[in-house]
Amino acid sequence: KIVLFSLELIELSGQLCALLIANDITERKRLENEFISLVSHELRTPLTSLMGSLDLLESGQLGQLSNSGIKVLNIAINNTERLIRLINNILDLERMKSGKITIDKHYCNSADLMQQATETLQVMADQSQIQIITQPVDIEIVADSDRLLQTFTNLLNNAIKFSEPMTQILFSTEIINKQILFVIKDQGRGIPADKTEIIFERFQQVDASDSRTKGGTGLGLAICRQIIEQHNGKIWVESTLGKGSSFFILLPL
Ligand code: ADP
Repeated sequence: KIVLFSLELIELSGQLCALLIANDITERKRLENEFISLVSHELRTPLTSLMGSLDLLESGQLGQLSNSGIKVLNIAINNTERLIRLINNILDLERMKSGKITIDKHYCNSADLMQQATETLQVMADQSQIQIITQPVDIEIVADSDRLLQTFTNLLNNAIKFSEPMTQILFSTEIINKQILFVIKDQGRGIPADKTEIIFERFQQVDASDSRTKGGTGLGLAICRQIIEQHNGKIWVESTLGKGSSFFILLPL
């Protein structure tokens, strides 16, 4: 059951009373999820076809475009790709939550995974003049390497997005009591204390303008949490506003 609690102060015959309201929103959430996944499924086919047409235009097989035509086409391609990514993320999350995608665990090397994630984000970090420092522990872990890589790249991507140039990101590992702890620590803008839990929910962002200014959709952390929980692990963030954030991933060894 999903229950929403709220507290209200009311005045009853001259006395101030606290009213605790418990609202069962299980059915509302179920319908909301069903609606979002239905719409996403329906949007995927026309979007894929739209992308095919744009690719054809770009290839020049239908004739050459003017310079301004190419500019408009590139904007259309970028936005279509963004929509396809969004739809795929929604469907991915829904399939993971409903157990339609299972985690494929195998032996993989933690240092290799950290290295691969860092390499994937290196160009973006260089463009933002941000240095990523890795401090790996070379150990074999049992995990779904693709999904763990997806989690690391998501967190590194955010760390870069929400940091200023000339800052550093520290990506480190520690072994604690038969568990491995990965930490991605940035020196970015930080997250307010009342948002550190809610940002792991679907479509939640610290600032409503984040999706416009930073290009995100608020799905990345929800996907990360789903992946880590399917590994029987934990993911959380500790942050100081204006100083930076540390994202922690704890996995059983
Ligand atoms: P997206 O980045 O696509 O918006 P996420 O689920 O990955 O979605 O992140 C949700 C929100 O959490 C972001 O929009 C941002 O407001 C906040 N956030 C995530 N990582 C950081 C970070 N390293 N520093 C500051 N804010 C962050």
